[in-house]
Amino acid sequence: MFQPLVELSPTERRQIVTLPPTIAKLTDVKHLVLYGSNLVRIPPEIGAMTNLEEFTPYTSHRLHWFPYELTRCRQLKASTVSTRSLYGNFKIRPPFPPLQPGRASIRDLDISDLDPKVWGTDVIQACSVCSRPIAEAGLYQVWISLRVGTDTLPLLVNACSPACIDTLPIPPDGYVPTPHTGGSGIAQPRADYS
Ligand SMILES: [Zn+2]
Repeated sequence: MFQPLVELSPTERRQIVTLPPTIAKLTDVKHLVLYGSNLVRIPPEIGAMTNLEEFTPYTSHRLHWFPYELTRCRQLKASTVSTRSLYGNFKIRPPFPPLQPGRASIRDLDISDLDPKVWGTDVIQACSVCSRPIAEAGLYQVWISLRVGTDTLPLLVNACSPACIDTLPIPPDGYVPTPHTGGSGIAQPRADYS
């Protein structure tokens, strides 16, 4: 079990809004515990934690979405997520923020120094779907809701091409049925208060 935030003081813990990309090296970790964190995003590198079986970001109320790379953690069976905080959650249907328009080239974009408030991460290296270097391709970001571990999670995809978006799985019933770019134009199924 790995609980990177436990030894921090409450003040230190509040300052930590993301995890470093070096989490990619934690390939032996089976259970990642981020209980009560102030995290606002998890980097795509979590996809390299290939032995992850259990993911516990519970009561991290600022964590509204996860990187699509989480689906690469094939052993992941259990998650404990504060689902009411999630974009698209079926009880409340918080709206998905609008994403940037897709672009066929990233010439005008420094993908090693992005504004995470706009792009969801500060560095995008590879396509979330096919792993092709984004530097050689375009960048098309979409949201998709998929079952991961125990929950249906909103995932951010950094795709290199529309073709990679076309290969994404079909979301479960009760969620926006296709990948989408968020914003007010996206109609979600009605909230289920029951
Ligand atoms: Zn791709």
